[in-house]
Amino acid sequence: MKRVVENRLLLAMLVAIVAGGFSGYIWGEAMVSVAWLGELFLTSLKMLIIPLVAASIITGVAGLGDVRKLGRMGGLSIAYYAVTTLIAVSIGLVMANLWQPGVGVDLAGAGEAPKPAVGDVGVTDLILSLVNPNIVDAAANMKLLPIIVFCILLAAALSTLGKRGKPVVAFFEGVNEAMMQIVEWLMVFAPIGVFALISSKLGSAGGGEAFFAQLAGLAKYAMAVISGLLTHAAVLSIILIVLARRPLGEYLRHMGTALMTAFSTASSSATLPLTMEGVKMAGVDKKARRFVLPLGATINMDGTALYEAVAVLFIAQAYGMDLSFGQQMLVLVTATMAAIGAAGIPEAGLVTMVIVLEAVGLPLEGIGLILAIDWFLDRCRTTVNVFGDSVGAAVVGRLAPKE
Ligand code: ASP
Repeated sequence: MKRVVENRLLLAMLVAIVAGGFSGYIWGEAMVSVAWLGELFLTSLKMLIIPLVAASIITGVAGLGDVRKLGRMGGLSIAYYAVTTLIAVSIGLVMANLWQPGVGVDLAGAGEAPKPAVGDVGVTDLILSLVNPNIVDAAANMKLLPIIVFCILLAAALSTLGKRGKPVVAFFEGVNEAMMQIVEWLMVFAPIGVFALISSKLGSAGGGEAFFAQLAGLAKYAMAVISGLLTHAAVLSIILIVLARRPLGEYLRHMGTALMTAFSTASSSATLPLTMEGVKMAGVDKKARRFVLPLGATINMDGTALYEAVAVLFIAQAYGMDLSFGQQMLVLVTATMAAIGAAGIPEAGLVTMVIVLEAVGLPLEGIGLILAIDWFLDRCRTTVNVFGDSVGAAVVGRLAPKE
C-alpha cells in the first residue's frame, strides 16, 4: 500500500474513532441502529482468520527449512512472550500497590454477582487444549491453538518431503497472499466499521453520562489499569527501539490501523489480519511475522496479564484481604497462565481470571465489582496485546538467524 493511502486511512480511522465516541456519547441508545455495520466489518475480518492462520503458519514454518531453525524461531518467540508477559504482570502488581484502588470500595456496589463461566482452566487443561481430536471441529469453533499446533507439525513434515512437499507449500503461499489481498480490500471499510463499533457500544452502554458514571465509580481502578498499560506500552516501545532497532514513530504509523481496530473490536484474533498487514508494511521479516503473529494473538497477551494482576489485587483490597509478597508472586505466575489461556476474543480475560482468584483464595463473585467498566478496559488491554505481538514479530525478525 502506498504511503499516501496509508496516511489517509490512518487519518480516517482517527476521525472514525473520535466521531464514534462523540455520536455514542450524544445520541446514546439511538446509535445501536448502526451496530450491524460494525458487525459486518468484524465478521468479515473473522472470516479470514482460519485460512490466514493456517496459511501463514504453514508457509512461515516451511520457509524456515529445517527443524533446528524452527526450534530457534520458536524458542525466541516463547522467550519474548514469557519475558514481556512477566514484565506486564509485574507492572500491574506495582500499579495496584501504588494506587490501592480497592481500598474502601463498597462491596454492595457489585450488584448482582455474576456466575463466571468457569471452564477447566488448570495447567493440564492448558496443555490439553493444544491438541484437538478433530481439526475441522477446531476450525469450525475458532480454536486457534490446536490449529496452530497442527499446522506447525504439517509444515515441519512437509519440509522433510523435499520435492513432494513443495506444491503443498506453494498452494498455501498462494492462499496466504490472496488472504492478505482481501485484508487490503477490507481495510478500506475499516473506518466505517470502527465508527459503528464504537458508537453502538457506547450507545448500548447507556451513552456518555452512563459511561462516565461507571468510570467515576471505579475511577482509581481504571486509572491503575490504564497507567499500567501505558507504562507497559512504553516498555514495549523501548524494546522495539533497542532490540528490533526500529524507529517508533514509523512503526506506529504502520500499526495504527491495527491498533485502532484492536481498540474498537476488543479482539486480538479479529484484529490479526490487520496486524499482519501492518507488520508487513513495516517490512518485518516474512517468516518471523507469519510465525510470531498468529501464535502471539492466541497466547501472548501482555495487556490481559497486566489487567488480571490489577483486577485481582483490587478485589483482594475490596474484600479487605492483604495479599502477602508470596501470594502476589502466586498472582504473577497464575496471571501469566490466565493470559495465555485467554482467547483473543472480547472479555476472555474476565473469565480466565478465575484461575488467579482461586489460586489466592478470593471469592469469584469479586468479578462482579469490576464488571461495569470491563467492556472499556478490555479495549485498552487488547490494544496493548496487539502492540506486544507486533513488537514481538519485529524483535524475532531481527534476532532470528538468517539463511
Ligand atoms: N479481549 C482480549 C483480546 O482479544 C482478551 C481479554 O479479554 O483480555 O486480546
